[in-house]
Amino acid sequence: LWSQVLERLQVQLSRPTFETWIKTASAKQLEDNCLVICTPNPFARNWLQKYYVKTIADVVQDIIGCPVEIQITVANGEGVTQFRETEVAEPELMPQNLSHTHSRPTELNLKYVFSRFVVGANSRMAHAASLAVAESPGREFNPLFLCGGVGLGKTHLMQAIGHYRWEICPDSKIFYVSTEKFTNDLIASIRNNSTQSFREHYRAADVLLVDDIQFIEGKESTQEEFFHTFNTLHEAGKQVVIASDRLPNQIPRLQERLCSRFSMGLIADIQSPDLETRMAILQKKAEYENMRLPRDVIEYIACNYTSNIRELEGALIRAVAYISISGLPMTVENLAPVLHPVGEKLDSSPEIILKAIAEQFDISIEELKGASRRREISWARQIGMYLMRQHTKLSLPRIGEEFGGKDHTTVMYSCDKIAQMSTTDPHLGQTLRQLSDRINLATRS
Ligand code: ADP
Ligand code: MG
Repeated sequence: LWSQVLERLQVQLSRPTFETWIKTASAKQLEDNCLVICTPNPFARNWLQKYYVKTIADVVQDIIGCPVEIQITVANGEGVTQFRETEVAEPELMPQNLSHTHSRPTELNLKYVFSRFVVGANSRMAHAASLAVAESPGREFNPLFLCGGVGLGKTHLMQAIGHYRWEICPDSKIFYVSTEKFTNDLIASIRNNSTQSFREHYRAADVLLVDDIQFIEGKESTQEEFFHTFNTLHEAGKQVVIASDRLPNQIPRLQERLCSRFSMGLIADIQSPDLETRMAILQKKAEYENMRLPRDVIEYIACNYTSNIRELEGALIRAVAYISISGLPMTVENLAPVLHPVGEKLDSSPEIILKAIAEQFDISIEELKGASRRREISWARQIGMYLMRQHTKLSLPRIGEEFGGKDHTTVMYSCDKIAQMSTTDPHLGQTLRQLSDRINLATRS
């Protein structure tokens, strides 16, 4: 029976959810229409109880044909622990608390705390696990591997762990580091013959938070070093938290042994938020920024930005900026030109695009069409080609002509390059969005 249940649940639930909560549980007995399920720890028990009992009951009923009651227990008979899942009474942020001998780690952004994180169905597991780790590091979920797409709150949660830990245990060493910085530190230490102190530094952590681990792909010496850092910390019962935009086994050129280390604790995923959650996030953000927004505006923004919370927030900021500059009342109609959904590109004309680029980069249209290879000019030209590709139906050769007779391979190369860079360079992403807005505005009017 249980294997049938598992089979069905596997299809219904996301993979990390299934692997973490369901696969680790086992069925004990089915008696008097009551199925007893055993979990490895109280946390998992509470978790299943809270979120998956209904799903499991439905599946079992479906299989055996009559309603069942589900009871969830902990394998070693441990009693129920009080695990607070949401509604954290976070310790107040106290930057000048005198009892704190160490100051708050400066890498931690003060905005990234639990109390500013809106929990939705998409992030419930990641949030609960982060909280559990913050409360008792080095215990159940080590490492905690936070996994989710760009702009969904991985860094926020990770830093929230750091803040929380620091609040309740200011003497503990909390290191937040991007994979890039870890790599650079390592390279510098090799250059300066100071690998010893590099090691001592990272291996002294009580809580090590490593962000964007996907960037470790293919970096052999960083992987080597991180492997040993990880082991040292893990063996000493120190907490490691890792964030990534994909699952460990989907990181290319990642050593097998690291992949298995990353998977040995808890993998908690964050999915895209649903509409309600997006609205709640905007509401909260607006409150913190002291902005008052009509509900339909919030709804409009939330409807149009579906998969990235950073873009959702960006849209809110642009809306407020646009309203204050234009002096128009804050209505959906007035915001429409600046708040086109990301990706919506109005069909525009080459003239509008050339003009927008020229203004943005403060160069002339003649220069854009000319042959100069000056850095700023060719950069602006590449962005222009990319946007013309997005905002018109012109073919590559036609776009080349608009830029003074450039070859279509040049256009293709430029479009590719900008598209690639925009996914990793937030500044460029922002510039492109601004330009896109500007082009949309000019196109509409
Ligand atoms: P990631 O690291 O996954 O790319 P971030 O943690 O940097 O994403 O989040 C992007 C932005 O969205 C941040 O400003 C963050 O505060 C905000 N954010 C993400 N998730 C939430 C949430 N659930 N509630 C409130 N703000 C959020
Ligand atoms: Mg991040």
